[in-house]
Amino acid sequence: MKRVRQIRAVLLDIDGTLYHQQALRGLMAFELSTAPFSLGSIREALGVWRILKCFREGRESLRAMEDPRVSLVSLQYSLVAERVCVTSREVEIIVREWMYRRPLKYLKICRRRGMVEFFQLAAEMGLRTGVFSDYPVREKLQELGIPVPLTVELCGTDPEINAFKPNPKGFLYACHLWNLDPGEVLYVGDRHDVDACGAKAAGMPYVIFSRRTSRGFNASATTELRSITNFRGLCDVIHSAT
Ligand SMILES: [Mg+2]
Repeated sequence: MKRVRQIRAVLLDIDGTLYHQQALRGLMAFELSTAPFSLGSIREALGVWRILKCFREGRESLRAMEDPRVSLVSLQYSLVAERVCVTSREVEIIVREWMYRRPLKYLKICRRRGMVEFFQLAAEMGLRTGVFSDYPVREKLQELGIPVPLTVELCGTDPEINAFKPNPKGFLYACHLWNLDPGEVLYVGDRHDVDACGAKAAGMPYVIFSRRTSRGFNASATTELRSITNFRGLCDVIHSAT
């Protein structure tokens, strides 16, 4: 069995990993339910709901794209525009407002407990930390209040990647930027189908936040299913793998 080298960096997903996504979705569902009043139009609110639903569905379908010849940034909007008969620009404006800007104010209250302490511990242990998400990362990181500087901040739509998880390109690009072997970078996510599969395809050890109890971390097996339930569990993982 291939022996894992010491972990020297931790790469994390953001949504559902650094904060509780279900809680944020609940808050946004409430805000969206009041859209007819805030927008002053039921028709306009229906348009927003439809565009957001199509955008989420379209995003999931783009995961299967192996090697897109066009930029995913524009494709994610044009696919929706075609379906709901509006312009790509209109889709982009609504997605930026309702999916990127408005949820920002809820991030801090939805933050997972122990997140700050984890980043502090990782810094004390000399581990490099970074994020790789399918969605834009900069504004979310500012709102979440990460206590240490991150050395890698990547999004699947960055031109150097142009692929959503579970495509391993983004995972491998992070390793390239850190000049580390994939076996030296631990990936932390919350979805088995995209985070675990992507990390596995890149040859990276990984752990997944799950409500199920932990099955432990075996540093000598790179592809075994591993679950953690909180950041304390992640701190135990990095202690055992460094
Ligand atoms: Mg996630």
